[in-house]
Amino acid sequence: MLRIVVLLGLMVFALGLFYQNFNYPHLRFVPITERLLAPFDLHIRYRIGELDPRFGLSHAEVKQLALEATQIWQQADKNIFVYDPDARLVIDFIYDQRQIHTQTRLQQHADIEQQQQLWQQRHQQLQTMRQQLSQLEQQLKQKQDVLNQATTYYNQQVQAINQQGGASPEQRHVLEQQRLYLSQQRQLFNQDIAIHSSKIETLNQEVNRLNTLNQQLSQQISAFNRQFVGKQFDKGIFNGKQIIIYEFSSIEDLRLTLAHEFGHALGLGHHDDPYGLMYPILQKQTLDNFQLSNADFALLESKF
Ligand SMILES: [Zn+2]
Repeated sequence: MLRIVVLLGLMVFALGLFYQNFNYPHLRFVPITERLLAPFDLHIRYRIGELDPRFGLSHAEVKQLALEATQIWQQADKNIFVYDPDARLVIDFIYDQRQIHTQTRLQQHADIEQQQQLWQQRHQQLQTMRQQLSQLEQQLKQKQDVLNQATTYYNQQVQAINQQGGASPEQRHVLEQQRLYLSQQRQLFNQDIAIHSSKIETLNQEVNRLNTLNQQLSQQISAFNRQFVGKQFDKGIFNGKQIIIYEFSSIEDLRLTLAHEFGHALGLGHHDDPYGLMYPILQKQTLDNFQLSNADFALLESKF
């Protein structure tokens, strides 16, 4: 009798396990001993495994990000992920060509942006310089007009005196003073013109230099686009036993990548909504304060 009871009990338990495995595929990450001790505990336990220091993240930071990633699933009342240092499901960070590529891309992008900013600043400075020189040119034109008028007036005076039979010694003296003054003014004016011309020349050289810089920058951007755009890498994978992260370009990117892989650990596949979490490519999703899309919910519905 007792044997039958034990046998029945075992059969019920085995059926229970089978039922749970079928409905909650993620439970295969829970050791059988734990499932025996807590048969109704449906949590997925995970831990952080290998974390290559070249990713530049601490264990605590990754743990916090993983927690935030699991919180995304709480939007669907799937509060089932638990951090457990003894968990079977492990999140490993493997540093390879992919992250090197991403870091190079980020660095080059930052460099280009900085150069563009510097270019803009220089461009702005030259614009201001050009305006100042244009104002100066106006002033020089006015000066020239005044000088020409004064010269004309002087010539008229000389002509009038000559017609009247020549200048008296006093008149001659005054005229000579005026002539010297006008000559000095003309010299000063010519110096101003020379300075102005050299400034214009410097400005033009700077403009040429800036144009060359702009061409170089355009070439750099084209090269950057050729090298980096259009390449899609698997940021991470879930291989049934572990989540491996290979590549991310920001903390926000990593958080969503982890949430995506947690989705796979839940037993979910992909859908075709580019704004949803379970879309195979992380690109169009909102990185900050991400909300599960209808496609994500539909996927969950079909699974649970
Ligand atoms: Zn995926």
